[in-house]
Amino acid sequence: MEKTHMSEKILVLVRLRPPNQKEIASNEPTEDWECLNDTTILYRRNTFRQSSNFPSAYSFDRVYGGECSTRQVYENGTKDIALSVVKGINCSIFAYGQTSSGKTYTMSAITEFAVADIFNYIFQHEERAFSVKFSAIEIYNEAIRDLLSSDGTSLRLRDDPEKGTVVEKATEETLRDWNHLKDLLSVCEAQRKIGETSLNERSSRSHQIIRLTVESSAREFLDKENSTTLMASVNFIDLAGSERASQAMSAGARLKEGCHINRSLLTLGTVIRKLSKGRQGHINFRDSKLTRILQPCLGGNSRTAIICTLSPARSHVELTRNTLLFACCAKEVTTKARINVVMSDKALLQQLQRELARLETELRTPAPPASKCDCAMTVRKKNLQIQKMEKEMAELREERDLAQSRLEDIMRMVELDEASKCGTPQHIDKWEDGSVSQTSITRAYVGSHSEDDDDEELPTRSEDPSEEYCREVQCIEIEESATVNHKDEKRAEPKNILGPSEDASVGQNVRLRSWNRRETASTPPENIGTERPEEESHKKIVFSGLELGSSVSRNDSLSSCGSDSTATQSIRTPLGEEGCITSIRTFVDGLKEMAKRQGQVSIGDDDSGKMGRDIGLVIMDMEFERQRREIVELWQSCNVSLVHRTYFYLLFKGDDEADSIYIGVELRRLLFMKARFSQGNQTLEGGETLTLASSRKALHGERMMLSKLVGKRFSGEERRRMYHKFGIGVNSKRRRLQLVNELWSNPKDMSQVVESADVVGKLVRFAEQGRAMKEMFGLAFTPPSFLTAQRSRSWRKSIPTLF
Ligand code: ADP
Ligand code: MG
Repeated sequence: MEKTHMSEKILVLVRLRPPNQKEIASNEPTEDWECLNDTTILYRRNTFRQSSNFPSAYSFDRVYGGECSTRQVYENGTKDIALSVVKGINCSIFAYGQTSSGKTYTMSAITEFAVADIFNYIFQHEERAFSVKFSAIEIYNEAIRDLLSSDGTSLRLRDDPEKGTVVEKATEETLRDWNHLKDLLSVCEAQRKIGETSLNERSSRSHQIIRLTVESSAREFLDKENSTTLMASVNFIDLAGSERASQAMSAGARLKEGCHINRSLLTLGTVIRKLSKGRQGHINFRDSKLTRILQPCLGGNSRTAIICTLSPARSHVELTRNTLLFACCAKEVTTKARINVVMSDKALLQQLQRELARLETELRTPAPPASKCDCAMTVRKKNLQIQKMEKEMAELREERDLAQSRLEDIMRMVELDEASKCGTPQHIDKWEDGSVSQTSITRAYVGSHSEDDDDEELPTRSEDPSEEYCREVQCIEIEESATVNHKDEKRAEPKNILGPSEDASVGQNVRLRSWNRRETASTPPENIGTERPEEESHKKIVFSGLELGSSVSRNDSLSSCGSDSTATQSIRTPLGEEGCITSIRTFVDGLKEMAKRQGQVSIGDDDSGKMGRDIGLVIMDMEFERQRREIVELWQSCNVSLVHRTYFYLLFKGDDEADSIYIGVELRRLLFMKARFSQGNQTLEGGETLTLASSRKALHGERMMLSKLVGKRFSGEERRRMYHKFGIGVNSKRRRLQLVNELWSNPKDMSQVVESADVVGKLVRFAEQGRAMKEMFGLAFTPPSFLTAQRSRSWRKSIPTLF
């Protein structure tokens, strides 16, 4: 029912009232007490009763001099406590002091301020439904009277197991508005006056407790099963004059008689004193009506403030000291307020009924607790499984959509492609499912290769990785000469992408396999040929009069789109204006645009002069060279494969019209890659990430491989010359690796770049193999990635295919 403890000391405020007319008129000294600052009150007549051990300075949470208004007392002292009632926390504000010190003056104003603020709060929180109930009682001679009833009978106290001590049959009025409050307060005042014989006579002997009970529930849960209510009360307590307690204490003999003794005030003093010493032993709350009713406010579930009012008159100095002593005890008392959450009757009833039903069934069919437990466990497991499967389904759906959009792009490319027809059979039909052959190459290589880096001796192995690779390339060449009926392909439904790839008659399925990232690229290369339909069909792609590559098959273009990883990236995370390929379509448009521009400049118009054309070509050359340098630097910063750099550098030298397009594409790709790297780890494909670190690792692997070829490709004399050229000691340790580490390491040094391309070119036998790869390289955009010990997939991840 209750939650959240909040342990805090009772807030004690001291208020010194200004001298009243009577005191001024009688010239009574009223300057003995002075508020030194916000927290200390000082007795200035030090000489007074020197022998006594009364201190002359007292500190409290706050002290207020005669010039302070009640508003001030309320605002920076009691407001916070009074308002906690709207949040379900009980609270109480007492006024303690001798008669005529200003208790009623202070407390009545504070009551009004607090109720006004409570109303305000309610108006500002329309999302909650509030109810505020008002009740008022008086304790006079240990009899409790209802101040809202004219019936003079006294009320009884009852101990409720849930609510504690309650005043039976006390009238509770639901507060409607401000006027209603004012009416009720005047009713109370009138009731208090009844029976008063002299001014202040009755009020000085009685305690008045005004109580507001505030309940609230969130409107959206009203009448719902799970609705809960916050419920708390705020008490405004105007105590009897404290001289009554002093009298009682000084006149012990009269205690038994009880007629003039204020038992409630006396007990209050005792309770506070005991509580201030740390609640050891029995606390006699039950000794008086007041302490019974207010037990929660005194060290229990409530936030409590006590305002001790003082008279400035010298004649009252002893009573004032007594009040201050009471205040000193009170400030040591700790309360533990809680937020009171009450379940609605309906909710409580339902909960009890459920519990009853459960117990009944349990009684009738006593099941072993273990099996119940197992059942719950199984359900939980199943739920987890379902969640997992749903997640997987979502991923698959995403992949399917991606593949579908790729297919659409391919279709568009094929349509473009159809515009041009040419069958030059000597081209290499490179297709993206290169992963298939790559895997097999890598596996063969890894199987025969030991990782240790013996610089002086090549590991003894029968197969040279580059040879293996080249054989693989040839193998593809042969297989790829058998091409697909592109009409079939055009008609290929998107569902083929995720459909069964066993359908050997549809070449597309084979190719599209690699798009489905779930598929492990383990198909042996031999299968490629058998899976691909035997039909010769070669084409060129022609854009606006510009031929891209001498002879490029449709498959090239397909794979260049279908396989590219950048397209995937850019579809997902388009960059800004520069270096951004937002979609394959944009890219193709870009190519067309470039081709158009190039066509205008280089092919030119017959009318334009030769000179203009020459200048144009010179400018273009300069631009080409600038872009090339930029690429070389980007290669370095993106850890691009050295073999890739070499091939690209040696293949695209600007002597071919199409080279500038390739250069543009490579530049864009690298800028894109760099941007991604600079953003930190980015997903590349299907949740697999490509990071700067992983590419660095892959590059390292490649360098290891290359270093092993150094001994094989170069004679001792050649090696010596190279070591010399790259400033490596001829007898230094691991000099082959040192050499390879130097290669492509300084993008600013163009002669080193040229040298590096030359060395790597020799290592991978570019002269024998490379030329033939130009179109494949340019349009299939697959880096020659044979020189790696990594699995081909991870290689492909770390060095994404061109564009
Ligand atoms: P108590 O309730 O403690 O017996 P009252 O509140 O009735 O005392 O105050 C006694 C008189 O002193 C009243 O006339 C009241 O207006 C006046 N009084 C009390 N405190 C102040 C104050 N801070 N400023 C001005 N007048 C005050
Ligand atoms: Mg009073």
